Amino acid sequence: MKLTIGHLYPELLNLYGDRGNIQCMMKRSLWRGIEAETIAFGLEDSIDFSKLDIVLLGGGSDREQRIVCSRLRDIRENFHHYVEDGGSVLAVCGGYQLLGHYYKTEEDTLEGLSLVDLYTEQGSPRLIDNIVLENPDFSLPIVGFENHGGRTYIGDNKPFGKVVYGHGNNGEDGQEGVLYKNVVGTYLHGPLLPKNPHICDYLISNALERKYGKGALEPLDDTQEIQANQELYKRFVQG
Ligand code: GLN
Repeated sequence: MKLTIGHLYPELLNLYGDRGNIQCMMKRSLWRGIEAETIAFGLEDSIDFSKLDIVLLGGGSDREQRIVCSRLRDIRENFHHYVEDGGSVLAVCGGYQLLGHYYKTEEDTLEGLSLVDLYTEQGSPRLIDNIVLENPDFSLPIVGFENHGGRTYIGDNKPFGKVVYGHGNNGEDGQEGVLYKNVVGTYLHGPLLPKNPHICDYLISNALERKYGKGALEPLDDTQEIQANQELYKRFVQG
């Protein structure tokens, strides 16, 4: 079995070590004897989504998002087809905002990919903190760090989790991120996956299920990862 991960525009969308998410997906696949390769795409490259099993769209500043936006229209149709076909996507912060219809800043409105029915508007102050989420569909809480000016509204879509500490999508509705088909959109910055091995396995498993019809994964020894996750949960949620 083999997984191919597409890393979109890493020179622009790679804030706070989002690349660590790729390393985590590669390692957790390889440890199970699943071959894994990553293809990094620059702005000028054409992307054959039919060759990809997982796509990472990382975080970027407003300036970098603006540059990437100029390219999104060209890839939108193929990316849309990939998502509707069940392709796995991890989109973080700036990348998460770009999944939606638009990101409205004080200066302009950046047109997004419209892959998921959501939108973002810049607000003040920036929402910066550690963050903890709960989602009964996952075996562990989701822990991370957020730093964004945008407020994202996901309508009736399913959130990635319920905020039990931190701000989340917009600081108002107690929700964080979005889950749509096999897309995970979130403000939790990289490296999100090393802190949350259950989310890494969720992406890998969905990708294997789509490609081979077999998503079951051999368990790994996650003793340390689980301890770290529990420690963060205790520190922020139980005080
Ligand atoms: N520029 C966006 C915001 O501040 C996203 C920033 C980021 O990716 N950290 O809302």
